[in-house]
Amino acid sequence: MSRRPDDEEYRGFEQGPIRPPSEAGSLLLRVTRNCPWNRCSFCPVYKGSQFSLRPLAHVLEDIERVERCVEEIRRRSGGGDISRRDFAALRQESSAFDRQAMNAALHWAASGMRAVFLQDANSLVIKPRDLLAILRRVRQAFPWVERITSYARSRTVARIADDDLAAMAEAGLSRIHIGMESGSDRVLARVGKGVDKKTHILAGQKVKQAGMELSEYLMPGLGGRDLWREHAMESADALNAIDPHFIRLRSLAIPNHVELYGEWQRGEFVKLTDAETARELLLFLEGLDGIHSTLASDHILNLFEDLHGRYPEDKEHLEAMVRRFLELPADERMTYQVGRRMGLYRGLGDLADEGRRHQVTSFCRRHGITPETVDMAIDELMKRFI
Ligand code: SF4
Repeated sequence: MSRRPDDEEYRGFEQGPIRPPSEAGSLLLRVTRNCPWNRCSFCPVYKGSQFSLRPLAHVLEDIERVERCVEEIRRRSGGGDISRRDFAALRQESSAFDRQAMNAALHWAASGMRAVFLQDANSLVIKPRDLLAILRRVRQAFPWVERITSYARSRTVARIADDDLAAMAEAGLSRIHIGMESGSDRVLARVGKGVDKKTHILAGQKVKQAGMELSEYLMPGLGGRDLWREHAMESADALNAIDPHFIRLRSLAIPNHVELYGEWQRGEFVKLTDAETARELLLFLEGLDGIHSTLASDHILNLFEDLHGRYPEDKEHLEAMVRRFLELPADERMTYQVGRRMGLYRGLGDLADEGRRHQVTSFCRRHGITPETVDMAIDELMKRFI
């Protein structure tokens, strides 16, 4: 892990490349740059970018700049919604402020200024006392904020003292997003996640014990054809032990600049088809037991975007949705797969829409897609979303 030189100059407000889908409306504050691990074979996000800590003073300066922008936005809007005219004017005038900070503040204001997300991939890697200083400053600058959240790696969380985690929760850190990806030790080792099932469980339990909400991300498809059963069952088992507040699905996609792409091309990793991934997902859902989590499928790469429900009451319903897909006739399943990847369908109910069905069937005809060739076509369509 490389660190920034102490004399690094402040170059203005910064934001990193990603945030969880559920943090689309949040103010993004960059605490560190990139990923201190950066070795997961499926992950394209920070490849080629070096990890660095941002000096505490720079993060505090970012907060102050956004605070000034927010004050100006509130002054113009009289505390209510900002008009389109004021929005455009503030964009124009943002040379009087930090332009990036004003853009971030305007985006945040348009979303209600309810949540703050600390970037990038693992903000909890910084010294606990620095994180506490950032959290306290955020609360001071924006006392109305309902939620402050961050990504964290399980291995990092597992090493943090319980008292420090409790202090972070007390200072306002309210939700941690963890990329669990799998509960199978063999899958985790193969993709270079740098953590095992036991550590995932320990970290998840520590976050909850500290009084924070916990969002765990599962990656359907990551087991490939040889480990799909183990991936499904061990992941369900780990999540049963953690009982997180949220389980979020983000299906495997393999862009051509990640290590896993080479393994796939050489036949060392066999990627699942959509039907196989659905079968794996069903086995995973069947294995979830005794939890009180909300399951969300809020990612464009997922086969079912409307697979959303609470445990235990929605267990049967969620499983039935996936079973229904698996029981569709081959041509109907193909229509759904293509429509979903074209961005036309969110769930199986959309198959009833004749207008969208017409668009999908025309597309299939034009491109010669049949139930036999659909999986190859899907790989191409998926690239648009990676
Ligand atoms: S820890 Fe997360 S951000 Fe870092 S390489 Fe792995 S998946 Fe990507």
